[in-house]
Amino acid sequence: MMERVYIGLGSNLADPLEQLRSALAALAALPQTSLTAQSSFYISDPLGPADQPRYVNAVAALDTELPPLELLDALQAIEQEQGRMRKAERWGPRTLDLDILLFGERQLDEPRLTVPHYHMHARAFVLYPLAEIAPQLYLPDGRALSALLAACPFAGLERIDESR
Ligand code: ATP
Ligand code: MG
Ligand code: MG
Repeated sequence: MMERVYIGLGSNLADPLEQLRSALAALAALPQTSLTAQSSFYISDPLGPADQPRYVNAVAALDTELPPLELLDALQAIEQEQGRMRKAERWGPRTLDLDILLFGERQLDEPRLTVPHYHMHARAFVLYPLAEIAPQLYLPDGRALSALLAACPFAGLERIDESR
């Protein structure tokens, strides 16, 4: 069964724009998967520790036949290939973060995977790029993306024009 999945991408180390471009190419190359849309790139203020560079973020849409945990394994492999170091500090700087935002209509609460992503509803750097590629979207709990956006200021976010 083919399901529509939305992935949040982020990077704030080692040429973030290039990290995201390379990650999008890797997503497009996943087995049993096609990359169907990608947002513009956005610059955002870091979550958590403030003494780190600003992030570049984007959201991608995939159609995939991979089951959720296999997709997570594949995303983590891409993060590793692009030099991600897992450190003790939460939300510290990283070359690449690939988060599963939504996986079809599924609601998953497994040790390795919570879907929808637990904090997507409050993150401008997720909601605004997502709205670019899926403006009519509803979350599995029935909330409209447009309503989440209305409650989430664009503040701290900057759209990069030339990245598409
Ligand atoms: P945040 O989750 O707040 O965005 P983060 O992306 O920096 O923080 P990571 O270090 O990338 O967190 O991931 C920590 C763990 O989160 C991963 O090992 C993964 O198993 C788990 N995880 C749970 N739900 C998801 C999800 N929806 N997408 C990606 N990873 C997830
Ligand atoms: Mg994350
Ligand atoms: Mg992550």
